[in-house]
Parts: sequence; C-alpha cells; structure tokens
Amino acid sequence: MSRVYNFSAGPAVLPEEVLKEVADEMLDYQGTGMSVMEMSHRSAAFQSIIDEAEKDLRELMNIPDNYKVLFLQGGASQQFAMIPMNLMKNKVADYIVTGQWAKKAYQEAQKYGKANKIASSEDKTFSYIPDCSDLPISPDADYVYICENNTIYGTKYKTLPNTKGKTLVADVSSCFLSEPVDVSKYGIIYGGVQKNIGPAGMVIVIIREDLITEDVLPGTPTMLTYKTHADAGSLYNTPNAYCIYVCGKVFKWLKAMGGLEEMKKRNEEKAKILYDYLDQSKMFHGTVVAEDRSLMNVPFVTGDKDMDAKFVKEATAAGLVNLKGHRTVGGMRASIYNAMPKEGVEALVAFMKKFEEENA
Ligand SMILES: *Cc1c(COP(=O)(O)O)cnc(C)c1O
Repeated sequence: MSRVYNFSAGPAVLPEEVLKEVADEMLDYQGTGMSVMEMSHRSAAFQSIIDEAEKDLRELMNIPDNYKVLFLQGGASQQFAMIPMNLMKNKVADYIVTGQWAKKAYQEAQKYGKANKIASSEDKTFSYIPDCSDLPISPDADYVYICENNTIYGTKYKTLPNTKGKTLVADVSSCFLSEPVDVSKYGIIYGGVQKNIGPAGMVIVIIREDLITEDVLPGTPTMLTYKTHADAGSLYNTPNAYCIYVCGKVFKWLKAMGGLEEMKKRNEEKAKILYDYLDQSKMFHGTVVAEDRSLMNVPFVTGDKDMDAKFVKEATAAGLVNLKGHRTVGGMRASIYNAMPKEGVEALVAFMKKFEEENA
C-alpha cells in the first residue's frame, strides 16, 4: 500500500486513523454482524451513531442549545436554494460575492426574491475580501449571505461582516472545523462535508431555531423545508448514513487531537510553512492579498502556464497529487485541510524548492 499526499480541494484527504478504523469495522460494526452501509437508519445502532455524531459536533463547536444540527443531502449547492426558500419572508436578501460559490448562491437566490449584491471582489479576480464594516445592508433584508472561506480563490474572512442586526448566513464548506467559531453570531452555518470533514454527499446545517418555521415560500418541497428535517432529527427519509458515521469518526479524531483551538494552531503552522516559502520564492507566487489568506486553500502560480503544467506533472510523479488549480483560475492550489499532516506541507515545500533550483 502506498498513500500519496493528496492536496485536493474536495473530496479531500481524510485522517488515516479514521480510514483504518472504518476499514476495521467494515464487515462487522461493533458486534452487529453487519457494515454501517447495510444497517437500517431506524436501528438502535444507527440512532446511537447519529446521536453521538451530533453530540461530538456540538461539543467541538460549542453549539448553543437554541441551534439545531441537521445532516442533509444535496451537498452545499442545495443550500443555495434551500436558504432563500426558507428564509426569504420579505423576499429580500443581501449577498457578498467573494468567489464562484458565493456567486452561485447569489444567482440561485434571484429565483426566489430580490437578491442584492452589496459587495464583491470580482473586480480583482476575487483576490481579496471587501471591507464589510459599513455595507449598504437593505432595511428589509431577511439575511446577509457570505461564503466564509473561498475554496477556489484562497481567501477567508478574518472578521465577519457588520450585518447591522440582520441574520448572517455562512457557507463554511472549506473551513468547517478548521478553527473555533462563535456559532451565536450566525443564523445559519452550513457546509458540504467533503472538504474538511468526511466523504461527499452530505451537508451539515447548523441553524438557529427561530429560523425553522412552516412559513416558507409557496411551493417549497417538503424535502427542502428545514422544519421537516429538524422535526425528524435528520431522519425524515433515509439519510446518508455511512457519511454520518464517517463524519462522527472524524469528530472523535478532532476531539482526540485537542479540539478546534489545537486545529487552528496546527493549521496556522502548516499554512505558514507554505506562505513563508511563497513570499520569498523567485518562481512561485501566492495570488491573494496577504491579510485575507486562507489557512485551508493556497493558490499559487509561476506566471508561466507551461511551467505550471510541468510542476503539476512532476509533483504528481513525486506523490504530491491534485495540485492543479481550479479550471477557472489555472496555476496551482494546495488544499491543506485538517487531515493534511504537517509532513505533507513540508514535503510540498521541499519539492517546490528543488523544482525552483532545477528550473531557475
Ligand atoms: C465545494 C463547495 C461547494 C459545493 O459543494 P457541493 O457539496 O458539491 O454542492 C459550495 N461552497 C463551497 C465554499 C465549496 O467549497
């Protein structure tokens, strides 16, 4: 067996300890004589898996009691519609567009009401986070929407926008559990789990209880109503049971590592290794303004397309894989999520140094 260092933006690297544990339990989950894949979602064994996953997530994120945790299908993208369908009581929402994912959410919301783009960083290829201290928030906005970490462009909000009292909704797909957050500052925090938590195909929605109502836009499907899933403990229909199980294992792994304070420390250390190198390299350059840099997704370029391609090819051969940048940006991107060990980042930087010397 040989494992690579996988810098994919998602689906992405998972902790090796977790993969081994789920492999060990593949044929017989804790004496049940079956895999979690084969198990009824109405069984006592599965109920305790989902209950424990929720309990551990609540502990990790310090989720207040007046928030529900929902394990839903449809990925992060389904939330682009579900959020306006459930929250747009006045049919007005303000969007801050800092990348492709925020833009998609903004475009989807236009189907359901008046979505206002109140700030954007598209003028400079989304390479920064706009000043959000005094934005023209609409007086009747149902919520203000952000994508907190921009997976493709590698920027992150270091301070949350001033929403002037409006409900904040945040897509945290690519920074989920990477550092502590104050959940009480948000109405909804949600993220697809395939970036920083588990396998693809699930989104976790953390939602304040007063936002869960029957008063949704006319025509909203039962399956796209938060109340349906909140009332049923995420078991209205068959959930992505195996994904919930793996995510639960990752929550335990995070707790054993020391929780989110410790992850933040580790993530800062890892990112610093790469950014410090980029800052002094004559060949490679980061693409975003320093103060808005993400700890999770690090895009960089040589400025020469052919050289970028050569780098990606040789890195792949050296066991450093999925470094190609998003198709809309080009260049390279190293995603260094929680499960990427420091050794992986060190190996990448060592390889970049060698490549720089050889190709100077
Ligand atoms: C990957 C990603 C999405 C899309 O996730 P899906 O689960 O594929 O729908 C949305 N937002 C952000 C920030 C992402 O990184």
